[in-house]
Amino acid sequence: MMGFQDDRSKRLLITIDGPAGAGKTSVSKRVARHLGYHYMDTGALYRAVGLAADAAGVAADDDAALAALCRRTRIDLQTTESGLRVLLNGKDVTGVIRTPHISMMASAVSARPVVRDFLLNTQRTLGERKGVVAEGRDMGTVVFPHADMKFFLDADPAVRARRRFDELNAGRQGGPSMASVEKEMALRDKNDSSRVLAPLKPAPDAVYIDATHHDLDQVVAEMLMHIRCAT
Ligand code: C5P
Repeated sequence: MMGFQDDRSKRLLITIDGPAGAGKTSVSKRVARHLGYHYMDTGALYRAVGLAADAAGVAADDDAALAALCRRTRIDLQTTESGLRVLLNGKDVTGVIRTPHISMMASAVSARPVVRDFLLNTQRTLGERKGVVAEGRDMGTVVFPHADMKFFLDADPAVRARRRFDELNAGRQGGPSMASVEKEMALRDKNDSSRVLAPLKPAPDAVYIDATHHDLDQVVAEMLMHIRCAT
């Protein structure tokens, strides 16, 4: 551990925003592990709401039903030895929120103010811990505008689709086709960037990193360099 990591008073709130498939999750986990920080996957929160809506038969544009659903929904993120666990009303949904269908549900419900309001408090509470890497779409712009260090991680759409395809098909047969991954990602990018509320965009004070030609190690090294300069 380096000196600044041991000084708890200097433990930072770091945000990493960007589109799907840019590598945010792998990078955020690595940066958090390196610094001994908490990792906060806010996409998992939206996915859990998407799953809850899907299971309850609530349409993604039915605000009254979504509001009622949020009132009876509890989502927890637990850091465990084997990674982050997502609990929806006490039930482990870590794996089932990763399907393409739930990705689209998450994207649809995330455009609704009732859902964003509901999750805002959850995210800010989680962000109060000392030393957090928060990953999402609006971490640096809306949820944590005063974060100590902000990154926006991007990559060409073709590279992002290939990464997501490899991830979804890793070690298993019958995963989605490349064409369907490209289509789903383009639609999600469009939804996430064009929505009125908390659209995906870099915060003016974010460090923009284009990972098209950089691997995980290079991106992590670049971020750690910026973080070191900020402490
Ligand atoms: O990051 P991930 O792909 O898991 O996010 C799933 C969806 O949740 C995104 O497509 C986006 O619509 C939504 N989301 C959001 N704001 C965040 C994190 C995720 O709107 N901070």
